[in-house]
Amino acid sequence: MCNSRGGMGFKYLLREVMPPFIWKAISSLIKGRKNSHSLISYYCPCCKARVENFIPFPMINLQRLFDVQAVDAVFNAETLNISQYTCPECGATDRDRLYTLYLDMLFNELNGYVSMLEIAPSKPLADFIKSKSYISYRSADLYMEEVDDKIDITNMDIYEDEKFDVIICSHVLEHVENDMKAISELYRVLKQRGYAILMVPITLGFKDIKEDNHIKKNPQLCLKYYGQEDHIRRYSKEGYIMRLEEGGFIVSEYGENDFGSDLFLQAGIHKRSVLYVVTKV
Ligand SMILES: [Zn+2]
Repeated sequence: MCNSRGGMGFKYLLREVMPPFIWKAISSLIKGRKNSHSLISYYCPCCKARVENFIPFPMINLQRLFDVQAVDAVFNAETLNISQYTCPECGATDRDRLYTLYLDMLFNELNGYVSMLEIAPSKPLADFIKSKSYISYRSADLYMEEVDDKIDITNMDIYEDEKFDVIICSHVLEHVENDMKAISELYRVLKQRGYAILMVPITLGFKDIKEDNHIKKNPQLCLKYYGQEDHIRRYSKEGYIMRLEEGGFIVSEYGENDFGSDLFLQAGIHKRSVLYVVTKV
């Protein structure tokens, strides 16, 4: 069975443009996709569509990373499925799908009115959330158009203390100069016993967070060392958890064992993926 959306075509393109040692590594990452493809009914938790497969991470982005030898950003990313990145129906990324699996369970548990904030909203995720009539949802961002509130995450004074039951802040803090101030603002506006999905790109294999004034002034160096031109640091797992805890949060991690390997496989979520949910007591 051949996947017209990218399976063999994607591999062929990769092999054509990658240096051999990178091709070998990336080939091992996507191997499971081909082997298991005909046996699995893939499912997008965001739009509820059954899909033939998910679409791989954009080739052009991979090529730019390989051009500057930023291989860690791909091979050692904790939560990233390069071979099954976006949903062909709604555009949800693998991390959007992971959040949705969690939110589905959380909404059932909360069982009632939920006040919710999403920073830097993802449309597929927002569409899923807004389909629930019992949720009061606000989207916020400093730069994005069409959000409910244009705010700086390090100064969210338009929101009173403990306003939200649930917050999502995904792939934002790595862009923010003073991430500890942002974390303290997220802590302030989250209700006691509320839940926040706080995610950043985490590169495994490093103990410390990498931050360097020289690097952050040069977008090409940011791409090389942090995986994107507008990222100003690279989080290690240990360093990230430490910052969240310094901000007062209790940090929980949810992975394949918590959701079940079948659910991860069907939703196209890499088994290495970890969801960080923080609470405030
Ligand atoms: Zn979808």
